[in-house]
Amino acid sequence: MAVIIDGREVAKKIKEELKEKVNELKEKGIYPKLAVIMIGKDKASEIYVRNKSRDCDYVGIEYEEFFLEESITMETLLNLIDELNKRDDIHGILLQSPIPEHLDIRKAFNKIDYRKDVDGFNPINVGKLLIGEDTFIPCTPLGVIKLLEQYNIQIEGKNAVVIGRSNIVGKPLSQYLLNKDATVTVCHSKTKNLKEITSKADILISAVGKPKVITRDMVKENAVIIDVGINRTPDGKIVGDVDYDNLLDKVSYITPVPGGVGQMTRAMLINNIIKAAEGK
Ligand code: NAD
Repeated sequence: MAVIIDGREVAKKIKEELKEKVNELKEKGIYPKLAVIMIGKDKASEIYVRNKSRDCDYVGIEYEEFFLEESITMETLLNLIDELNKRDDIHGILLQSPIPEHLDIRKAFNKIDYRKDVDGFNPINVGKLLIGEDTFIPCTPLGVIKLLEQYNIQIEGKNAVVIGRSNIVGKPLSQYLLNKDATVTVCHSKTKNLKEITSKADILISAVGKPKVITRDMVKENAVIIDVGINRTPDGKIVGDVDYDNLLDKVSYITPVPGGVGQMTRAMLINNIIKAAEGK
């Protein structure tokens, strides 16, 4: 039977360690602070933002929210980011996505000072990840790697297959696995013979966003399965991408949804805010 990777437990442990770090910073007169920008109304985003504020409260990080009208102009958004970039009391800036379509999210990410870019979406940080320099790694990829490390799962030399090539999960995760010396294959919606590729994976990571896209016949015996997907079923349940129950007796490790990667994503934001406050 697979070991169930307990993201909740690992995230809790990491948050306790991060709380200590916040206290140490405060003793040095540094009060870590996050600015969150949210534009318009989006139910899921509202939940994410609420969770982020709770996590900040828990570890003692200060928090300032900027709720902007859906109709704002790009200029107003860029001016706000500029203002926050200049404020010495703000260490991290987070722009909650999605943002309304008339606004250019890339332009906005580019505007966030790379030293305050706790999401790791600014091209400077993306580039640093590519060349293997220390940087802000996007929270979900960072959380996935931390989970593997906490369970002493070897990455070096392993065949890692990532399904999904988004800028926030698939691409940075593939790059980070490569930096950790895995042999990485990236699959996506246009990939032919997906099963042929996934069945060779020692570590299989799904970031697709479709329930049961990973079935028992697609995975290798004793593979490590990391399920990044978050999907809502018609009856309101949250499930991942993986046919979890039917994989349990075939694989060596598996993450549940909920209670897996999602918890780590939240903890890694705290990690990145502290990193920004430390000025590292
Ligand atoms: P996205 O929609 O930007 O990317 C999905 C990727 O899946 C694309 O690259 C696409 O090519 C690929 N894809 C789609 N259908 C496919 C198929 N049938 N076979 C192979 N590849 C296919 O999504 P995203 O933002 O990267 O998020 C992916 C999933 O992860 C979503 O469910 C999202 O909710 C979830 N997510 C979870 C966390 C977390 O903390 N756990 C964080 C971010 C995103």
